[in-house]
Amino acid sequence: MTGTSVLRVAIVGGGPSGFFAAEHLRKQHPALEVDLFDRLPTPYGLVRGGVAPDHQKIKAVTRVFDRIAADPAVRFLGNVTVGKDLTREDLRRHYHAVIYAVGANTDRHLGIPGETLAGSHAATDFVGWYNGHPDYADRSFDLSAERVAVVGMGNVAIDVVRILASTPEALSTTDIAAPALEALRTSRVREIWMLGRRGPVQAAFTNPELRELGEMADADVVVRPEEITPDPASEAALAVLEHRHTAERNIETLRAFAAKPRSGRRRTIHLRFLCSPLEIAGSGRVEQLVIGRNRLVPGSDGNLRAEATGERETLDVGLVFRSVGYLGTGVPGLPLDARKGIIPNDRGRVLENGAAAPGEYVAGWIKRGPTGVVGTNKPDAAETADLLLEDFEAGRLAAPAEPERAAVDRCLAGRGVRVVTWADWQRLDAIERTRGAALGRPRLKFTRRPEMFAALAS
Ligand SMILES: Cc1cc2nc3c(=O)[nH]c(=O)nc-3n(C[C@H](O)[C@H](O)[C@H](O)COP(=O)(O)OP(=O)(O)OC[C@H]3O[C@@H](n4cnc5c(N)ncnc54)[C@H](O)[C@@H]3O)c2cc1C
Repeated sequence: MTGTSVLRVAIVGGGPSGFFAAEHLRKQHPALEVDLFDRLPTPYGLVRGGVAPDHQKIKAVTRVFDRIAADPAVRFLGNVTVGKDLTREDLRRHYHAVIYAVGANTDRHLGIPGETLAGSHAATDFVGWYNGHPDYADRSFDLSAERVAVVGMGNVAIDVVRILASTPEALSTTDIAAPALEALRTSRVREIWMLGRRGPVQAAFTNPELRELGEMADADVVVRPEEITPDPASEAALAVLEHRHTAERNIETLRAFAAKPRSGRRRTIHLRFLCSPLEIAGSGRVEQLVIGRNRLVPGSDGNLRAEATGERETLDVGLVFRSVGYLGTGVPGLPLDARKGIIPNDRGRVLENGAAAPGEYVAGWIKRGPTGVVGTNKPDAAETADLLLEDFEAGRLAAPAEPERAAVDRCLAGRGVRVVTWADWQRLDAIERTRGAALGRPRLKFTRRPEMFAALAS
């Protein structure tokens, strides 16, 4: 099924939005070939490398992606970095259309003094490390500090807190990367501060994730009642909030935490609102985090913003994790809105110099920013795929010069790229599961590319 009568689409990024886009295209347009590229030898994007190891139920969505990949019209080409192994021009030569679904791979900085001290980390790095992402396999985290601060009030910050506060017994039944499990076994972390600059009405976390903190086997949660009681302005904001239901449940949960006496568990999680990090201090490595207290005032955009009261506090901490948002860096050669961390687009059509670039689209986090759950990417990808099909039907997509699958393969082979096929991934998957089963774990992940290639060669 090859030739210009067949619509050929490249999808760059084998995460949820890439798979959902492939699925939608196939359902809507049967005469189609999709090549799904990922820079990693493994598929699933942040479902493998982001979603926390103790959230195995969410990781089960990979079964849906496996069904999509089993379609003979969909090929997985892992270990191919677009922007390096294949350029934007190469893709135009081989496909009618390209959907960039590359996600967001870096993080926002706090922009405060001391952020580069040893012991100050991005949550992205910690998450990548405990999830066995090959880019972070050489990282190490010194967990000998007893007191830790996590800056941020979203679900990723909660993941980081929960992993730091989990018992090794709980983690040892998950697919957490082996080096991370070893380091966490000997962790001396006792007190964890999670810090948000605004109040609970503005917090980004969802309620099940917040409640989970209260269900940890060996950690108490401490909340200051005065920090979670919404002021009149927050009450008014709550009444018109889009996610009002979530915010109300969060406040209810926080009140329950505040009312619960400590039970003497080994670890304590302090949830602190209305405080901003001002400075990370220490000689050579993190020793203290200076925070400033805030009040909420109306901002120019109509939302409540944090305003410093001038009151300061110093937390003696040996580790700081910043978790104030993932940020997309795009693909070399394509436009990028660096502030928002997205490729500029109109509902999914890539915009270059303000105009739609025919045949180029985006889906997922690189389209809308790092928001929502895995399922949010499904309608998002469908919207993009529909626009692509509309452009194809309207004759707006140029026919590629070299539309054969073999032409792409020749190009990659000529550049010395060892493509990881879906069959290769299935072998790696089977090996990971077998190694895990021997330890009572869902899988024992490969964390380094050479290990994966050695396993495939043997
Ligand atoms: C720490 C964390 C925890 C989360 N936990 C949950 C959760 O518990 N529940 C939930 O529902 N959602 C969770 N999410 C959200 C969910 O993971 C995202 O909504 C989803 O993964 C976004 O999908 P995506 O396809 O846009 O991006 P990604 O999942 O990031 O996929 C992008 C893919 O593109 C590839 N890529 C990037 N650049 C290139 C390139 N140049 N060439 C080729 N390939 C490239 C990457 O390797 C990656 O595989 C979490 C997110 C994070 C960060």
